[in-house]
Amino acid sequence: MDDVKAVVRPRSVQDVVALVRHARATRLPLYPVSTGMNWGYGGSNPVRPGCTVVDLSAMDRIRNAADITPRHPVALIEPGVTQAQLHRHLQAQAPTLAFNVTGSAASTSVLGNALDRGVGYAGPRVDDVFALEVVLGTGDVIRTGFRRLGETSPLAQSHPHGLGPIPDGLFFQGNFGIVTSACFRLMRKRPVEMALSIGLHDEARLGDLLDGLIDLKRDGLLSSVAHVGNAARARATLRAGLTQYLQQRCALAGAALEQGVDSALAVVAGSPWTGLVGLSGDRAQVRSALSEVRRRLRGMAQVRTFSHGFMTLASGVADRLRGLPWVRPYAAGLAAALPLQSLALGTPTDIAFDNLFWLYGQQGLPAADYERSRCGVLFISPALPMDGRFVQQFVSELQQIADRHGHTLFITLNVETAHSLVGVINLLFDRDDPSATRRAHDCAHALHIHVQACGLEVYRARTDQMQAVITRSPEHWSLMRRLKDAWDPDGVIAPGRYSAVEGGS
Ligand SMILES: Cc1cc2nc3c(=O)[nH]c(=O)nc-3n(C[C@H](O)[C@H](O)[C@H](O)COP(=O)(O)OP(=O)(O)OC[C@H]3O[C@@H](n4cnc5c(N)ncnc54)[C@H](O)[C@@H]3O)c2cc1C
Repeated sequence: MDDVKAVVRPRSVQDVVALVRHARATRLPLYPVSTGMNWGYGGSNPVRPGCTVVDLSAMDRIRNAADITPRHPVALIEPGVTQAQLHRHLQAQAPTLAFNVTGSAASTSVLGNALDRGVGYAGPRVDDVFALEVVLGTGDVIRTGFRRLGETSPLAQSHPHGLGPIPDGLFFQGNFGIVTSACFRLMRKRPVEMALSIGLHDEARLGDLLDGLIDLKRDGLLSSVAHVGNAARARATLRAGLTQYLQQRCALAGAALEQGVDSALAVVAGSPWTGLVGLSGDRAQVRSALSEVRRRLRGMAQVRTFSHGFMTLASGVADRLRGLPWVRPYAAGLAAALPLQSLALGTPTDIAFDNLFWLYGQQGLPAADYERSRCGVLFISPALPMDGRFVQQFVSELQQIADRHGHTLFITLNVETAHSLVGVINLLFDRDDPSATRRAHDCAHALHIHVQACGLEVYRARTDQMQAVITRSPEHWSLMRRLKDAWDPDGVIAPGRYSAVEGGS
């Protein structure tokens, strides 16, 4: 954070108001972050130099902690509330409730992620948040939805849209104010929750698989985002867990270990593309959804079911039989997949970071120390049309571009809702190596140019992509700028983040 002026840590809404007033008086801009772990999208680095970072992690109250029940599945949270903290609270106070967990670290902010339109296993978090409390760039505090009637109104934490225009959207991927709390929807756990793994047989049918999953989502049969990862992605996700199991439980080392990992990968991640989706409901609902998924994907993909109980049992049995060479790949695969399944079923973990650090020989580093790791990640996250054939062609073009730059793409295609499909593409590089860092940025830039050339755009931008995003549609962003002038007349909130800067593009 070389370009940062200072980092301040307010503890209350009044502190945030004072910071904004001071920023207006001095014309020194602020850059708000909740826990600042926006890794892969720019972390807590401001777009423009000279900002004071407003780190809201000390505002970490679940304000209605005592009132959360299955009849009132809403948490009123401040920006510093982390995934781990909310999970712990629900376990203790309302264990039949869960929430939309992301694959990022347990110590990331629930609200910060939502405000950058992050995505959890159940869908985009923007759909979970309503009734925001915001300190505008003027220093005024507004509350949206029916929270404007006062915190004691019986409607304050329900009826998300309130009455009249809905300003909420301005504060997601917007820089009109600093969000100091919001209502966050919780989910009631269902009697049966199951994960499906979907192994595509033939790479050439990726488009058909996507169309099939889109239809299943539209018909309301899938209860989670449908993630479809390429082989590089599936292998990177499982390799660390497989290696650790084979080292620790089977005492393999050297060439035998490598061979063991490869045979386990062939068993558990042998498909060119692997889908992961969740089904939940009562027993009859899940049974009927499962048979429909199987029917529609027959001949195209292998569908395997994993309930948590089954996986725990199977993993225990396979572990006891791991001495048998043919059982060993399954034992390792189950051991590696179990923590991932817990994550998909709503328990936040740091497993994604354990896997990442392992690739760079830095196992054991806590996820919160990501900035100190050698592991560079750049996300390229295009919004995609709901059209399997188009997406298949587009992905193969991206792969050709990456090949020319000597890069592997770790790709996930996510059917998020009945109306949105996105790609989350990771480029990994060694941050300690300046030439690898430059090559990765060049490749990311070339990919983004291609995204735009295809008439598409990213749905979530890295801070270093802002210039290219704004330049693409200057009229749109200058219109947004006119709105910003009303609520942040001195441009003190996050200049350049999802906005054109004053006097510039
Ligand atoms: C291995 C790995 C896995 C990941 N998995 C996922 C995933 O599954 N899903 C996902 O969405 N992301 C994922 N990420 C990206 C990222 O780590 C998460 O999105 C993370 O939650 C963002 O950090 P944060 O919660 O600390 O938010 P912050 O960094 O605090 O906030 C994000 C941005 O939102 C804005 N903002 C934050 N708080 C406020 C506020 N109070 N008022 C106004 N504006 C604000 C700022 O622009 C800020 O930069 C992953 C990253 C990695 C490296």
